[in-house]
Amino acid sequence: MQFYCESITSYRRLRTREVKIGDLLLGNPGNGVIHPVRLQTMTTTDTMDTMATVEQSIRCIEAGSELVRITAPSKREAENLLNIKNELRRRGYHTPLVADIHFTPNAAEIAARIVEKVRVNPGNYVDKKKFELIEYSDADYAEEIDRIRERFTPLIKICKEYGTAMRIGTNHGSLSDRIMSRYGDTPMGMVESAMEFLRIARDESYHNIVLSMKASNPQVMVQAYRLLVKIMFDEFGECYPLHLGVTEAGDGEDGRIKSAIGIGTLMEDGLGDTIRVSLTEDPELEIPVCRDIVKRYARGHPAGINVVQPAGELPRLPYSPFEYKRRDTFAIDNIGNRHVPVVIADLSKLKKISHADLISVGYTYDEATDKWNISDAAADFIFTADQLLDFPLPGTLKVLVYPDTWQNAADKKKYFPLFDRTTYSLAKERSAELNFVMIDCGAGSQHLLDLAFLDVYATSEDFKTVVLCLSSKNRNAMQSMRQVFIRLMEKNIRNPVVLITDSGNNTIDEHLIHFATETGALLLDGFGDGICLGMTAAAYASVNDRQASVNASGRNYLQNQTPEQFINNTAFSILQATRTRISKTEYISCPSCGRTLFDLQETTARIRAVTNHLKGVKIAIMGCIVNGPGEMADADFGYVGSGPGKITLYKGKEIMKRNVNSDIAVDELINLLKENQAWVEPIN
Ligand code: SF4
Repeated sequence: MQFYCESITSYRRLRTREVKIGDLLLGNPGNGVIHPVRLQTMTTTDTMDTMATVEQSIRCIEAGSELVRITAPSKREAENLLNIKNELRRRGYHTPLVADIHFTPNAAEIAARIVEKVRVNPGNYVDKKKFELIEYSDADYAEEIDRIRERFTPLIKICKEYGTAMRIGTNHGSLSDRIMSRYGDTPMGMVESAMEFLRIARDESYHNIVLSMKASNPQVMVQAYRLLVKIMFDEFGECYPLHLGVTEAGDGEDGRIKSAIGIGTLMEDGLGDTIRVSLTEDPELEIPVCRDIVKRYARGHPAGINVVQPAGELPRLPYSPFEYKRRDTFAIDNIGNRHVPVVIADLSKLKKISHADLISVGYTYDEATDKWNISDAAADFIFTADQLLDFPLPGTLKVLVYPDTWQNAADKKKYFPLFDRTTYSLAKERSAELNFVMIDCGAGSQHLLDLAFLDVYATSEDFKTVVLCLSSKNRNAMQSMRQVFIRLMEKNIRNPVVLITDSGNNTIDEHLIHFATETGALLLDGFGDGICLGMTAAAYASVNDRQASVNASGRNYLQNQTPEQFINNTAFSILQATRTRISKTEYISCPSCGRTLFDLQETTARIRAVTNHLKGVKIAIMGCIVNGPGEMADADFGYVGSGPGKITLYKGKEIMKRNVNSDIAVDELINLLKENQAWVEPIN
């Protein structure tokens, strides 16, 4: 194993134990056996409504869900799982069912006798969370673990007897007070929370276990899974299968991007045996997104994968994959060092760029005042290839062009050249301030020549004006670019880097997942001072065709967006999800389940409509007060269902307005934002 995965340089799936869930096998046990990454979702119906839960389960199964999870908050619901299971089997559906348990060991012990798998949350199974910071002595701490052992062991014994599998599912937002007191709400705390339960299970020789480390922040989630693999492997010499997911990812584009960044980054590393994409949408709509994420790895095996350097043990990593630290760079203009990552919008496919085209990338010209309105998601640079623009540009916007065109540009404060190795070496003139140089992170001779070029030029004084633009056509493009970052760090080359990612996919979801995975994985490791997303000519043409913009779930995210607008919004959403550049309001909304006390989709849309101009504010919309407050993690404000028709409003973890009538709850949320100076009036 290399650090936390089988290979840091090529795609290789992590070796994990085989787990049996009913007739479904999971994991990568080796000896020629490798089970596909399994897709799953969770019902949102009331578990006591047998027929509604059966009907929804069938819709999920027919969409491709290989496991269906159903909430069992109390003994009543746990018992009703039998009716649901019997009805599904009677109708010919044998997909394994999973009972989702929080707080109630009694419900778990009933469910484990009925369904094929139970999920327990170590943060609230026996252990407790009251948002109290209690100091635990070593003796108190050990005593608590003994208490957990005593209460958890009966469930293990039932699972062994009935052949039931188990997921030990840690959530970042619901770590117990005890874990918080020792580790804080850190990835290490998440890992230790699961490891305590896993050690107890292993002591009972029970191994039919899957683990998860979910968080709504992809950075925390990725670090926790990596750390879990390392610690499991160090302690046991083997790993249990991993269930990947980003919690409360939200809906629409943002939900897909956040999920793809978290799940995709780990899958690029070869981690993950089953996935769930948690969207605030109908559960069957999660499955096409799961499938789009997983199919990228159907290529699966080293054959056919290009690697930058032969895979093998790396002597060391010059960065930590377990914590975020941005790569050290010097600044050139507004790129690198402490500047937020820049966005370069590719307008090169437009034949004649006009004022109006800049609306797509965040700049709207107002003829009456002769001024530009600049949005929070306005690109910092545009790439026009060989076009010089015949109108004055907004003050903050700059243009990248090819070197010959740059020579003809009158305004060298606005236009900057984009070189490759050859044109840079041969250039008679370069910008005194800012030059961009493409570096091929492919597998062939061009790549090797580009590396040699870097070795020669990187130490020269002139190179201090160079921003490197990394791109790769390799199938394992992310790993290939990561290899070049490692090389830059080893050689102390501190020039800023822009990540160039092209998509040749077909559907909108595929584009989103591709961009989010390829660039998100690097940004989460602290790599990248800017991003430039683009599309192949065929993909661009298909996105331009409104018909082609309808994705697999029948949704059309494009609406009236041009391809440039879609790409620009995606770029800013990726930066937001990786928390590297905040340009809009962030929503943490739970996917809803049988506990949900209001229409989450409709409420999320209503809250979004009135708050989406509040840049940087994190608002959680959670269906129930049992799990909601714990799971809303680091939200600034929370809107939580606390009873039929009742909403409780939070500031951080603190209750500010209890049991507000739901008719006025959105207005009260706005008042709460105003009272806390988090509100600004929208600009019409
Ligand atoms: S927070 Fe949402 S998904 Fe979680 S238990 Fe409550 S209603 Fe269900």
